[in-house]
Amino acid sequence: MEAGAAAARRILLVEDEAKLARFVELELKYEGYLVDIAYDGRTAMDMFGQNAYDLVLLDLMLPGFNGMEILRRIRKTSDIPVIMLTAKGEVSDKVVGLDSGADDYITKPFAIEEVLARMRVAFKKSAQKAVEEDKSILRIKKLVIDLPQRMVKWDNTEIDLTKTEFDLLAYLTQNKNIVLTREQILNQVWGYDYIGETNIVDVYIRYLRTKIDDRFDVKIIYTTRGVGYYAKEEE
Ligand code: CA
Repeated sequence: MEAGAAAARRILLVEDEAKLARFVELELKYEGYLVDIAYDGRTAMDMFGQNAYDLVLLDLMLPGFNGMEILRRIRKTSDIPVIMLTAKGEVSDKVVGLDSGADDYITKPFAIEEVLARMRVAFKKSAQKAVEEDKSILRIKKLVIDLPQRMVKWDNTEIDLTKTEFDLLAYLTQNKNIVLTREQILNQVWGYDYIGETNIVDVYIRYLRTKIDDRFDVKIIYTTRGVGYYAKEEE
């Protein structure tokens, strides 16, 4: 039971089946959540505009405009966690839902424990995202990486990096003291659709070492032989 931890969280439940809505409401309240119910799309958008919610449970088939339309409207202004509730047979809509920014979906009929578990996952992800956004300035030794401005300095001396060099350095620094495999680096920095030599990672690590480690006579980037690379904070 995580009632205490969930005490302040406010949920918008959008569901036109009154009995189901009432059941979910009671269970969520029992868990310590605050719950508002909207039985149709228009009311849902009104409530969303008027209150600050922490998560939306969103039925797909609704009178007025449907769940997809509500999701689209929510996503124009908010990255709040949204979990779609879909009936069996709406499988293709599930995929569409995730594509258009739903965090998760649950198929009806569902066990309430499943809903609560998915909600906890969504909250956790959302909290992690907030922490990541807070980490827009990265530091390692005398190196300062300003992510929004895409600027790198060593002890106030600006370092000129290409886009890829910057992305690579940022990724290593965000995961400092953690060994990243070439594959992880490749996927993150070059993207999953990159087609080409995997030794591109080694080439760019060399560029970075030349521009930072060698130039300022420091050691930022370490090699774990046969595995990959990591940025190290301590000597
Ligand atoms: Ca419905």
